[in-house]
Amino acid sequence: MKRYKTVLLFGAPGAGKGTQGKVLSQIPGFFHLSCGDVFRSLDIRSKDGKEVAAYSSRGELVPDEVTIRIWRNALEGQIAINRFCPDEDVLVLDGLPRNVHQAEMTQAYLDVFQVIHLVCRNEAAMIDRLKRRAIHENRADDANESVIRRRYEVYNKESAPVLGFYPPEIIAQIESLHSPAEVCRDILNCLIPVVKKHFPKDE
Ligand code: AMP
Repeated sequence: MKRYKTVLLFGAPGAGKGTQGKVLSQIPGFFHLSCGDVFRSLDIRSKDGKEVAAYSSRGELVPDEVTIRIWRNALEGQIAINRFCPDEDVLVLDGLPRNVHQAEMTQAYLDVFQVIHLVCRNEAAMIDRLKRRAIHENRADDANESVIRRRYEVYNKESAPVLGFYPPEIIAQIESLHSPAEVCRDILNCLIPVVKKHFPKDE
């Protein structure tokens, strides 16, 4: 099976993965898919929608098998309608893999050649960001301080170890508290040469 050439946007809740993913998705050759957005687009009355909401409203991870099935369906849907063209586009993932088991499960079809780690050393500033976002984006999981705290615990315990799954030489550390434009510049400085290497084009 052919593996999709993939860049992971990785970092704690509020680090700016979604913001940067959306910016990158405006550039031809980059296709962004956020697992959280896929989940939020589910019909809340459906079986999957109910199951996902039961976990995300508490700040817990949705079980791996359910996550990977829903996310793969969404990805294949994007390929079917030609939004994502794996031979031409870099797949930019945000919010997945969220634990080491998901990294193992997706290894067979994701060729992760770069991880962008949006580093956050100031948890209070991140929590502030999340609270502001909750108001703008109507996100129940970020409106409640105890759910935010739980999201951080889950990140530190379950998600952070994903960084140990990939070779250190493909992980770039990028400061996430700078302005969105500066973060975007730093990401592109890292990505432009590596993407060129993985998608050689006749000039
Ligand atoms: P996000 O928008 O990435 O912060 O995700 C919102 C919520 O969706 C998370 O708090 C989890 O409950 C759930 N979620 C998103 N991605 C995953 C994943 N890869 N595995 C399990 N749960 C996830």
